[in-house]
This record gives sequence, structure tokens and C-alpha cells, in this order.
Amino acid sequence: MTESPDLRLLSLGAGVQSTVLALMAADGTLPKVDGAIFADTGWEPRKVYDHLDRLAKVLDAAGIPLYRVSNGNLRHDSLDPAHRYASVPYFVLGPTGSCTRCDGSGSVNPGEVTGEGQPMPGEDPMWWSPEAPAEENPTTLCPLCNGTTRSLGMGRRQCTSEYKLAPIGRKVRELLGAAAPDFRRVPKGRVAEQWIGFSTDEIGRVSDKDGVSYIRKRYPLLDLGMSRKDCQRWLAARGWGDTAKSACIGCPFHGNAQWRELRDNHPDEWADAVAFDEAIRKGGARGLPLDGEAFLHRSRIPLSIAPIDRVTRKEWADRSPDIFDALAELGDPDGCSPYGCRSGVAA
Ligand code: SF4
Repeated sequence: MTESPDLRLLSLGAGVQSTVLALMAADGTLPKVDGAIFADTGWEPRKVYDHLDRLAKVLDAAGIPLYRVSNGNLRHDSLDPAHRYASVPYFVLGPTGSCTRCDGSGSVNPGEVTGEGQPMPGEDPMWWSPEAPAEENPTTLCPLCNGTTRSLGMGRRQCTSEYKLAPIGRKVRELLGAAAPDFRRVPKGRVAEQWIGFSTDEIGRVSDKDGVSYIRKRYPLLDLGMSRKDCQRWLAARGWGDTAKSACIGCPFHGNAQWRELRDNHPDEWADAVAFDEAIRKGGARGLPLDGEAFLHRSRIPLSIAPIDRVTRKEWADRSPDIFDALAELGDPDGCSPYGCRSGVAA
């Protein structure tokens, strides 16, 4: 039999799913938690902070403390050469000629695209031969770099562990009785049950990697069989239908819908993201300059002119005939969780 934990703590991202858990813990649908912990990167949109303030009142009335923890301001620290650098997953365009698929020429033989000796689909198989001199074989655009001759890459994602996981872990240890000033050692035998708001559609984000003995992870929405849309309906029915995804203003994992939302409805935050995008072109402020260029938008085009009006396949897929779609934020990855990447990869 599993022993009762000493504490029940909610990891509160202030997005859709964790807001449901907070409200359920407050109204008695779920057992009461001993605290909710919000890790503030310092760069959340205004509406997330407003939402958090509103939630704080409900939690307070239910006797649940809300702990706001922080490891600094992600935006500021990323541009400060004096600050320890935590990599953000920028989209990177390598220097000219760096594409490894076409060796920097921008084109390949059609047969190389489909396999040795094989013509492109629909092409006459007689006109390309692996034995023929290169000048006699036609070429086609390199499928990897699309003729730009530059390699495509992505920065490592250290921001979530540095600005979310680390301060939450420190607070959990502190609440379990670890001593100041570093709160490293949890007294033997003390255990916290940590609630994480993954819904049934996010089961791929669940990971036991980096587990520690004093934390027992629990996923109440999976126990309840609730999907993200179920959570949105639950919130809408209780007057919390405007709950947004929580993520940094300039997170490279934003989909086009989220970029458009910033540009069209929050011009200050859009201007902030555009300015940041320009500032990171040579990578982080610390260390050697990037051999290539970094961008916030996945097209690897400056955010100010990136094709964010294009509706992506995921957006179309999300537009199912459901009246609650009017309330849903379409086509973007889920909010930023310390326990699962916005890209969908388990952290
Ligand atoms: S929202 Fe994006 S930029 Fe911010 S911590 Fe999460 S992954 Fe990093």
C-alpha cells in the first residue's frame, strides 16, 4: 500500500489544465492541496498574470497558499552578457554553404532524393542515371535546405528547467523541511505528492525521467479521463472560459495563431517579441556568437515579416465542428509545462 504523502502540492502553470485542478481542489471536487506553486519566468503575457491574480483570490478563500517562485527574468537574462546563459529553443539558420544534404550547393540529383538510381516520382526513369557524368544529370532543389544552401537547426531547451523546474523543485524541498540557505536536503522519509495538469490528449508528455524519491507525481486529469477540451468546457461553465495557455511572450514554440493573437490584440507584447527576435539574431548574449542566425518563428524569417497569417495544418485539424471551438485557442501547441515540452516531446 502506498503511504500518504506529507504534502500535496499543485504545479500551477496558470493555463487551462492546471487551472481546472486548482479550482477543483478549491471547490472540493478533488482533495484539498497544501499549496499551489507557480514558477514565474518574468515574461508571461499580461493576461496570464491577471488570471493568476484572480485565481489567487479563489485559492486564498479555500485556504490554499499560492507560492510564486522565480529564478529571474528569462527575457532580460537572455540578453544580459553578464548573466549565466540558459539556452532557449530558437530556430537556427546555419551559415551559407552549411547544408549537409547538398554540401552547400542548394541542389541535388533527383535520384539522390528518392534513392540511388531512382527518378523522382512521375519522372521519366531514362533521363537520370547514377553512372552518367554529373553535368548530364539534371538537378533538383535540395529537400533539406530548399535551395538556401544553409543548414536548419534548433537551439537546446534549457529555459524550462532553469526558470520553471529549478525554482519549483527548490520550493517543494523547502516546504518538505529542507534547511536554508540552499534547501537541498529533504529530511529522510518526507514525501510530497505533486499534481501535474496533463490531460488525456497530453499523455505523451508524461515522463518519469529525473524522478526523485521525495516527489510522487500524480496526474488527476488522467484519473478523471479529462481532455483539454473537457477542461475548457468545465472552465467555460464556471465563468473561467477565457483561461489562456501560459507561455513566455516570445516562446519559439508559439504557433501562428498565438503569434497573430499577440500582434492583433496585444501590440505592446508583439513589439516586445519582435524586438527580442531582432536582438537574438546572433544567439544568446553570452559566449561565442552563433555561426548562423537565430529566429523566434519556425520559418526562420524575422518575426516582423514572418508568414504568421498562414493557417497551419494543425490549425485546420483543430477546427473541428464543435461549438466550444469558439472558446478554444486554435492551432497552437499546449502551454509550457516544466514536465513536458511545448513541442510535444517529454521533458
Ligand atoms: S514558454 Fe517557451 S521560452 Fe518560456 S520557458 Fe517554456 S519553452 Fe522556454
